[in-house]
Amino acid sequence: MSRSLLVPLVGVALVPVLVAAPDAPATPADLVVVQKGTLPIIVSAPHGGRKKVPDVPERVGTGVAQFATVLDANTDLIAERFSAELEKLLDGKPWLVVARFERKYLDVNRPREQAYESDKAKPYYDAYHEPLEAACKAVKAKFGRGLLLDVHGQGEFKDAICRGTQNGKTVTLLKERDGWRGLTGKRSVLGFLQNRGYKVLPSCDADEKTKEEPKFTGGYIVGTYGSHTGYAIDAIQLEFGSFLREREKDKYAKTAKDLAEAVAAFYDEYLKDAKK
Ligand SMILES: [Zn+2]
Repeated sequence: MSRSLLVPLVGVALVPVLVAAPDAPATPADLVVVQKGTLPIIVSAPHGGRKKVPDVPERVGTGVAQFATVLDANTDLIAERFSAELEKLLDGKPWLVVARFERKYLDVNRPREQAYESDKAKPYYDAYHEPLEAACKAVKAKFGRGLLLDVHGQGEFKDAICRGTQNGKTVTLLKERDGWRGLTGKRSVLGFLQNRGYKVLPSCDADEKTKEEPKFTGGYIVGTYGSHTGYAIDAIQLEFGSFLREREKDKYAKTAKDLAEAVAAFYDEYLKDAKK
């Protein structure tokens, strides 16, 4: 009799422990995916998150230029799938920083003073930028140079990828080493994708290389960590059109796989010889 009673008692005791964990409030670290890499390649995706930030109201944007709260749907999925695909191709990991929090609470592709309105959002801003800055520093220390892709989405050119380098500024070192072919040639990331059939804006064949789409020339992240600064990391903002990010027929996954092949080609041509 006493034996049979033990079983239900143990069961009852365990239940509250098991259900408590999922209800725990999210911490800053819970809302940013961070992966330490082994390659001189860094991927950031600041606008794909869908999670609420605890105790932080939605931003209203008073006095903020280019205020935006819309999320870049599925860019988090593209970044993470890209990482997995690249690992298969290069047998190493890229560095990864991906927001799980939604942009309407804070926008980490903005300078701090424009990024959030509640002090409670500050730890989330730091939880994004601290690992991103650490990745840039680690890659510079180990390899002397590297590539940062900041993954975004736009709906204006639905089947196209817009390049944002502040018209070439954020890839200053790449241009000095290899000229424009490092950004638009056949083995560049965008040149490879264009040859794969993607529409790239500005076209890699354009005579005027610096004329990027005015709305998509690159934001705070590429402007802060690009190779015109002290980080020595060539930074490209990639704005994927909405057709390239759809979940239907796993379009986002094809985009991520093609991007991984493009980055692998770039790595073989331009990065492999970086010091180890
Ligand atoms: Zn964006």
